[in-house]
Amino acid sequence: MSDCLFCNIAAGDIPAEKLYEDDELVAFWDIAPQAPKHFLVVPKKHITGPAAVAEEDERLLGKIMRVGARLAAENGIGDNFRVVFNNGPIAGQTVFHIHMHILGGRPMTWPPG
Ligand code: 5GP
Ligand code: ZN
Repeated sequence: MSDCLFCNIAAGDIPAEKLYEDDELVAFWDIAPQAPKHFLVVPKKHITGPAAVAEEDERLLGKIMRVGARLAAENGIGDNFRVVFNNGPIAGQTVFHIHMHILGGRPMTWPPG
């Protein structure tokens, strides 16, 4: 989708500080980090959010989790991190292309805001 920010980042048309890219996924550092280390794992396929995931996307979503955990380990976060998917504006979603947040580098509290 030409008017979608994360489609444009995935296509390389808008720059981002990428940690990882393959034919299906891109991962990049969040522009407004909410923790010392905060990156996003994004499928190249345009899916608007968690509630729009179809059965055919199940393997892709598992890959997002697996690659995200590996990137956390490889980028100084280790194995203590918060995973967030926001769905809907009231829940905090601002970009309507599904993305997994990984936040780390500090202790996390519960409940989230
Ligand atoms: P959401 O609020 O939709 O769950 O998360 C969107 C995330 O994308 C936010 O954490 C926001 O800081 C990040 N973001 C928004 N625009 C850009 C951008 O142009 N580049 C990068 N790297 N991150 C962005
Ligand atoms: Zn998109």
